[in-house]
Amino acid sequence: TPTIHKNFKGVEKTVYGRGSFGQLDAILAPHRADNEGYFVFLVDNYFKGKPLEGQVPAHAEDLSYYISVEEHEPTTDQIDQLRDEILAKKGLPSGVVGIGGGSIMDIAKALSLMLTNEGSSTLYQGLNLIKKPGVYHVGVPTISGTGAEVSMTAVLTGPVKKLGLKCEWTVFNQIVLDPELIASVPRNWWFYTGMDTYIHCVESENGRLNNAYSHAYAEQSMKLCREVYLGEHSGQTPENDDKLMVASMMGGLSLTYSEVGVCHALSYGLSKILGTRHCYANCLIMNHLEDYYPQGVAEFKEMVAYHQIDLPQGLSKDWSDDTITQMAHVSYNLPHMWLHAIGDNWQEVITIDVLKDLFRRL
Ligand code: NAD
Ligand code: ZN
Repeated sequence: TPTIHKNFKGVEKTVYGRGSFGQLDAILAPHRADNEGYFVFLVDNYFKGKPLEGQVPAHAEDLSYYISVEEHEPTTDQIDQLRDEILAKKGLPSGVVGIGGGSIMDIAKALSLMLTNEGSSTLYQGLNLIKKPGVYHVGVPTISGTGAEVSMTAVLTGPVKKLGLKCEWTVFNQIVLDPELIASVPRNWWFYTGMDTYIHCVESENGRLNNAYSHAYAEQSMKLCREVYLGEHSGQTPENDDKLMVASMMGGLSLTYSEVGVCHALSYGLSKILGTRHCYANCLIMNHLEDYYPQGVAEFKEMVAYHQIDLPQGLSKDWSDDTITQMAHVSYNLPHMWLHAIGDNWQEVITIDVLKDLFRRL
């Protein structure tokens, strides 16, 4: 059988640069007459009472929600409730704008789709299950690394699955990349979320789906990550924020045209069973993957040491065998990642016991 090559829709419009957030009102203007003629703004609650709140271009008719992402990652219930409330209040909006990190961007993408697709979002967790295009949606990242700004998935945790609403219509119509917005990110999040990009690149590069196209993005993204996280100019500076925002986007594009691997497969297990946050979970796991990614893990550890990031060890001593078995099963059930990372014979190499041993290293 001939190889089917990935054929993806990208973000339609991208503005990049310091202060570009100021253009948002003008960007939305041509869309304001659509549907019921109002916009929904979803803003990370961190910005409540901060200067950015005054710069959000919400008009009198618009709905603004300040959403806390501290307690949990986005859930299917949360999206369904928000959708029902918005439709009951004002009908179908002209569009949705998400201003925040990966969590808020995923909420914005998922809400856009669920405003036009009936029933619970749990019905649509998976690939190409969405029936109709969503409303116009805009992503404004305020923390860089997940690549959620360019990805074709909106990851949601439901009662059964932690899985994305993944289809062409998930992709943002517009993104606004303003590096000024990420200046206030706390140092630990700056590290964990940035490492998500670095890990995306290590995994994208080390597997059978890697190709010249995904490699070009990964190579550039890793070069930018090295400038941001290693060496004499490393740290949270305006110059590095400019670079990190681009690194995040390119890391996301690299994995879109390749695949993630061992770290993400394990990370989904940890997050699904214990609720550990995506980027932090990846860092906890990457620390123990030298057997799979010797170079990438060595450089990751250099970055951890350089920034004196405290990654706890010995976590698994508090986990029951049952908990570890559950994590192993979640990870095992991601064959697309294993096929990429290990190959056709992955089931000979990766068994539930191998996975349990890996989790016990944490
Ligand atoms: P996040 O959105 O969860 O935010 C992390 C923390 O940073 C929060 O406390 C938030 O309030 C704070 N924060 C954000 N911007 C800030 C700023 N400018 N100043 C100060 N604090 C700020 O972070 P994340 O790591 O970007 O996103 C993780 C989420 O992304 C997870 O839900 C994960 O499932 C999802 N994800 C999605 C994709 C995708 O392709 N769709 C890929 C990877 C991860
Ligand atoms: Zn990731």
